[in-house]
Amino acid sequence: MADTTGTGSTEAAEPLYPADRVARAQRAAGAAGLDALLVSPGPDLRYLTGYAALPLERLTCLVAPAEGDPFLVVPLLEKPAAEASPAGALGIEIVGWAETEDPYALIHQRLRQALAARAGGGRVGLDNHMWAEKVLAFRDALPGTGQELAGGVLGELRMRKSPAEVEALRRAGAAIDSVHASMGEWLRAGRTEAEVARDIADAIVAAGHVTADFVIVGSGPNGASPHHEVSDRVIAAGEPVVVDIGGTTEDGYCSDSTRNYVVGGEPDAGYRKLYEVLLAAQRAQCEAVRPGITAEELDAVGRDRIAEAGYGEYFIHRTGHGIGLETHEEPYIVAGSARALEPGMAFSIEPGIYLPGEYGARIEDIAVCTAEGGERLNLTPRELVVLPG
Ligand code: ZN
Ligand code: ZN
Repeated sequence: MADTTGTGSTEAAEPLYPADRVARAQRAAGAAGLDALLVSPGPDLRYLTGYAALPLERLTCLVAPAEGDPFLVVPLLEKPAAEASPAGALGIEIVGWAETEDPYALIHQRLRQALAARAGGGRVGLDNHMWAEKVLAFRDALPGTGQELAGGVLGELRMRKSPAEVEALRRAGAAIDSVHASMGEWLRAGRTEAEVARDIADAIVAAGHVTADFVIVGSGPNGASPHHEVSDRVIAAGEPVVVDIGGTTEDGYCSDSTRNYVVGGEPDAGYRKLYEVLLAAQRAQCEAVRPGITAEELDAVGRDRIAEAGYGEYFIHRTGHGIGLETHEEPYIVAGSARALEPGMAFSIEPGIYLPGEYGARIEDIAVCTAEGGERLNLTPRELVVLPG
């Protein structure tokens, strides 16, 4: 069920990168017992500020203390870019450091009082993707201050998508759908997986992504390896081919969808049977999405069906992963996770059946939990696609 807060809404929509996120993260950090968050370039920084800085050797870091004003430390030569980014409109101080200054000492200077007041020198949360050289530089610059991952705090915020984020994921879904819809232009018997993948990668960018993040073309037995990428294997007529593709759009959000094709012939009866089981399982999982269902329950909806049909040992991975500014993020749809789904959570539903040495199949849609149930963001047909030639 689509809500009406996307494009064309009569309400004033919240921007994709709203100004209150740093303040929300500060409160969450305080509630988690952290004295400050230190966030270097990557999806967390982009989520909090809209600034899509490249991770480089010079330190760029958002410093968000639990108490007090946040500030963004950037190399002086990158200050104009930071100011021109959405971060420049947040009302946060942007502190440039000159080539001969020590940005870690600068941050220590500003945090020293707050940390000194805390028992044991306090604790800071570092973004999960911070480079080790920066983690260790902070350890040296903030002696006695405990370090931990900020991912727990930031992941809780990031996994509940705003309507504007859902709309961004919907745009990404439509973009990758258009690539699957044109697959017959590139996927043909007699071509290698790598040749086909190069064309698909170009199409992913042409369809509205800034990068093609991955292209999996798994033909015949290669389709039985879920993370096979591509090879120089020549695709033969009548062979099943798993195509799992995704990219990142201009506004930072990711796409990810898998469809299954057969080119220039009919697959064998065993594959047809396997595919019908998989399709029924994936459909049942998509229909089961609703607030309150847990990740492990949703996993079981598909896994139980696949197991009942006798393929249980060939479904060798979790059902899915959250998606947003990263292709893989919380929440993971996996056995053992009692996390209850909530409106705004977005994740893949991608059961697969893989017969080693023969072939495999995986059907993958991105779904969003809504107040009423679930919405799929990938809308190309999930049935097996038989392409000519
Ligand atoms: Zn995928
Ligand atoms: Zn996926």
